[in-house]
Amino acid sequence: MTYLFETEEHAQLRATVRRFAQAHIAPHANAWEERGEFPRELYREAAAAALLGISYPPEDGGSGGDVTHALVASEEMVLEGRSVGTCVGLNSHGIALPPIVRLGTPEQKKRFVAPVLAGEKVSALAITEPNGGSDVASLRTRAVRDGDVYVVDGAKTFITSGCRADIVTTAVRTGGDGHAGISLLVVERGTPGFGVGKKLAKTGWWASDTAELHFDGCRVPAANLIGEENQGFFAIMVNFATERLYLGAQCVAIAELAYRESVAYAKDRRAFGKTLMGQQVIRHKLADMVTRIAAARALVSECAVRVARGEQVPGLAAMTKNAATDMCSFVVDQAVQIHGGNGYMREYLVERLYRDARLYPIGGGTREIMNEIIAKTEGY
Ligand SMILES: Cc1cc2nc3c(=O)[nH]c(=O)nc-3n(C[C@H](O)[C@H](O)[C@H](O)COP(=O)(O)OP(=O)(O)OC[C@H]3O[C@@H](n4cnc5c(N)ncnc54)[C@H](O)[C@@H]3O)c2cc1C
Repeated sequence: MTYLFETEEHAQLRATVRRFAQAHIAPHANAWEERGEFPRELYREAAAAALLGISYPPEDGGSGGDVTHALVASEEMVLEGRSVGTCVGLNSHGIALPPIVRLGTPEQKKRFVAPVLAGEKVSALAITEPNGGSDVASLRTRAVRDGDVYVVDGAKTFITSGCRADIVTTAVRTGGDGHAGISLLVVERGTPGFGVGKKLAKTGWWASDTAELHFDGCRVPAANLIGEENQGFFAIMVNFATERLYLGAQCVAIAELAYRESVAYAKDRRAFGKTLMGQQVIRHKLADMVTRIAAARALVSECAVRVARGEQVPGLAAMTKNAATDMCSFVVDQAVQIHGGNGYMREYLVERLYRDARLYPIGGGTREIMNEIIAKTEGY
């Protein structure tokens, strides 16, 4: 099934991404996931195929399109690349660059956006801190203005692509307590006082790196401030709404892949003299899976079209993420069950998808925080 909004243009994009993922990702998917890393060269290869620039304006080095094109490309990359870790690592620009595109000066876009979309540099977004990620308004990493630099002290954690990032869009406290004291600052690799801690070992998303970052008297040019000082919180919230839509769409893609694997397995595997597909219970499991995928896909579609129209839909994005997350958790669990003991084995894709899926009720804002946002937007 495809999204209702898809046109011939989306179909062509799917074909392009499919060819890329089949040639450049799928043959290495298992090896990269087991190694916990994909080659840096993949960024250049994806840029050469005009995939990194999808949904970015051509004047910033992008290849045009909107969020609907980005969702379709991301789905196809998961379905055909078969490595969620690689896809989320390769696409960390999707959360790191939009605030710069939206609020940056032409000079900042030239320095930070264009080289990432060309596959020459890697970008990351750093909001979460060791003392907590849900309460963004309480973040502690401090940036104090000293002439034409900000002196940054603090730490970030769980940062996707943090180990290899050349530019990090970082949330810092430039003002007083609360949301009104937060700004966004781009910290570049090599800046004295900026350090990358160990690569964190995690449940899923193995091929993507997840890092701790440290800032110890790190002197960042004031020219790297994105937007106005102390106005960063709103930019972060706008960015989160799109990230949650992306995460919801990733859930649809992961679930679709787990479903396809399960259908193939059920047609092949035999028990009690017939295939698993011959058992009504298994057919009904698959029917429940595909029904929930279709429902989540419809909500992702609705949210995507509204975001593409320029609407601000934080509540709908939160609903989309929670609905897609719940669906995906259910589908990958059923997929493992249909695979029996093989579903618990590393050589079967559904085992890995089951682990990958566990991130989604946590990352980009937890399930509980999504409900807080929904409650707020509903006016309770
Ligand atoms: C693999 C991975 C990749 C990530 N990538 C990035 C990244 O690139 N950049 C980045 O900045 N962050 C990233 N994160 C961090 C992620 O966004 C945070 O983990 C998430 O926001 C939750 O923050 P926390 O882990 O500090 O949990 P906490 O905030 O400590 O929350 C712990 C628990 O308490 C619950 N809770 C907290 N407050 C409330 C409340 N008011 N009401 C009810 N329940 C509440 C939460 O829902 C959660 O269940 C990543 C995380 C992971 C695991």
